[in-house]
Amino acid sequence: MPGMMHDRGLRRQIDETRPIADDGKRRDLRGVGRVDRNQLWDKVIAQVDGKAAVDLSRRALMIPSLSGQEENAARFFFDAMQRYGIDAELQPVPESPTMNASWNTIGRVKGKGGGKSLILNGHMDHNPTADGWTKDPFGGVIEDGWLYGFVHMKAADACFILAADAVRKAGIALKGDLTITLVSGELRGGVGTKHALASGVTGDYFVVGEPSELEIVTRHTGSVTLKLHVLGKMKHFATRDVPGAKGISAIEKIAKVLPALGPCHKLLPDRKNGGWLTFEPAANFADLPQLNMGSIRGGIGREHNPTRPALLADRCTLQLDIRIVPGMTKHSIEADLKRLLDGFASEDEDFRYEIELDPDSFPLPFVESPDSDIARCVIDAHRHINGENPAIRENANMGATDALWLSQAGVRGLIYGPTGRYLSRPDERCEVEDLVRATKAYACVIADICTRDR
Ligand SMILES: [Zn+2]
Repeated sequence: MPGMMHDRGLRRQIDETRPIADDGKRRDLRGVGRVDRNQLWDKVIAQVDGKAAVDLSRRALMIPSLSGQEENAARFFFDAMQRYGIDAELQPVPESPTMNASWNTIGRVKGKGGGKSLILNGHMDHNPTADGWTKDPFGGVIEDGWLYGFVHMKAADACFILAADAVRKAGIALKGDLTITLVSGELRGGVGTKHALASGVTGDYFVVGEPSELEIVTRHTGSVTLKLHVLGKMKHFATRDVPGAKGISAIEKIAKVLPALGPCHKLLPDRKNGGWLTFEPAANFADLPQLNMGSIRGGIGREHNPTRPALLADRCTLQLDIRIVPGMTKHSIEADLKRLLDGFASEDEDFRYEIELDPDSFPLPFVESPDSDIARCVIDAHRHINGENPAIRENANMGATDALWLSQAGVRGLIYGPTGRYLSRPDERCEVEDLVRATKAYACVIADICTRDR
């Protein structure tokens, strides 16, 4: 067949620097050699509308979309996908234990069949607005080459759409399917991505566009979150203790526990070294485990009613986020925490507590090889665009992401996204030039992966 002759011709052009496949053998890209791939990439890059990527990012940032409140952003991306010729679906996401019902937006570009498929994944929810912003976080402000707002990670979401647009405009015929999953509730443990996967979204490879400063991230921590409730007994502090009706301040009791849990934001010692957590140090997880005390609320009843400071609080709740190393689980952490707290209880008969593990968290680390086909593709695309290799992060990232759920579903991939330095803090921002570079890279990855044979 003429097609086969053509294929053989292409294979001869491929040199020994061609990528090593997942099975460790050098293998051609089944139809696309290095020379041809560079041509393919140049063709696609020429069609990237960087200005449109920045504009779509900017307009997406102007739509508030806290976890469980992504509907307007989901509709915005749905409309944008349709405008750019992507088959779009608004997918309802049912209520979860930690989040209201919400929406995913899923875009599909069908390949003609027989090719490798790719998922580009990004979340639409963002952090709450903290004090300290000097710009309107929803103002779409661009100043001195920086775009301000919750760029994490609707900026990358917009780049995905313009990347697919560039591939379409370049006239590249895809063999495998491209799926763009813009999801809700990633900040609640990946609620939207888990739902998308359960509904049948699948692929050979994924790229999660989480902020990585366009560096390659192939491993990250897990994030186990829990509530520690320390319990007291309410009474007015001006009344006397009477037998059987003693007042106990839950706030006073929890204050003794806090120093024992820490240090915060530092590598925690293991039990052999005086810490409370059981773990074995893991290669490439050098700064982990660590924890953060994210919120503490004391007051009366389950609502922590704060209106009566004259009353001894009967409940004080600390929310903890523990970033883990391989081998730690939420159950190992629960057992460790129980052991620590039982120590307090053995010395103080008034010390009582409850532990409530969050049902939605990232309970395992994500670990993938930087030598996978998809990682090599992203590295090559980055080099083609920027003239140098991207940094490949050896140590695990401290952020947990939906890469965990995608890899658990058998899809291979990595994290590569714009922004990072000014992430998750007041005046969060991103260099607009990074958005253009990210869009080019995503377009190259689509064009390469989705034209490979299975
Ligand atoms: Zn994120």
